[in-house]
Amino acid sequence: MTDDTLSRWKSFVAKTTERYQGILTESNAGFEGLLQDPNLDPITFVNAMNAIQIRVKELRVKLGDVYTQNVVGALNVMREAAQLMNQTSEWMDDNFEHWRVSWNGRLVRSIWARAQTLMHAPKSCSKCGAELTNRTVFHQAESVSCKHCLAVNSVSPDGLVYTYFAMAPDMIADEATVGSKIQLERQRQKLSKGQIVEMARQHWRAYVTARAQIAPMSAEEQDRFVESKVGYETKVW
Ligand SMILES: [Zn+2]
Repeated sequence: MTDDTLSRWKSFVAKTTERYQGILTESNAGFEGLLQDPNLDPITFVNAMNAIQIRVKELRVKLGDVYTQNVVGALNVMREAAQLMNQTSEWMDDNFEHWRVSWNGRLVRSIWARAQTLMHAPKSCSKCGAELTNRTVFHQAESVSCKHCLAVNSVSPDGLVYTYFAMAPDMIADEATVGSKIQLERQRQKLSKGQIVEMARQHWRAYVTARAQIAPMSAEEQDRFVESKVGYETKVW
């Protein structure tokens, strides 16, 4: 009975893995298509990513349920079955995280050209129609006075520019640091608190450095960001 349980468990894991791979392969094709659309609304992409994440989560939950209900009771095969459970779920989680952040990175890189063009498109004075030449901020709203008629204009970026700057800093930083984020999560219960804090500090330093390349932050702001994240580590456990 126990050998039978193990072999059924192995074939269930193989089938689940295959379905998981199928979802990602099918989604790769869908995302390739979306990024080809020169007028892509990033929200469409985000909604699709959320839907895929739900499907992958359902598979992961199913894996855990079958394991708990049908495998755990068969004690003789426990160790090998448990290893397979742990390896498969870790692999699924890690692989999905790499996959998700790399598509998010591709999304924001693909809309950057459009956002940049919109950001720097000339804006004219609402009173006299002259071009506003003394703008300083391009990704946020600002008040600009017209050099010709001195009227104060409120200039707002296009919606896509806002969306870009709301998404890109963290998506780019996530993509750049996904490896150390996963390491941190995996090691949390294995290493000493001092080691975890050091690991967290390196991870968040790399994260904020990548983030600041998209949304500039002063050195002090970056330090505060890192220390607030590291502070959280000292509270866990
Ligand atoms: Zn004017």
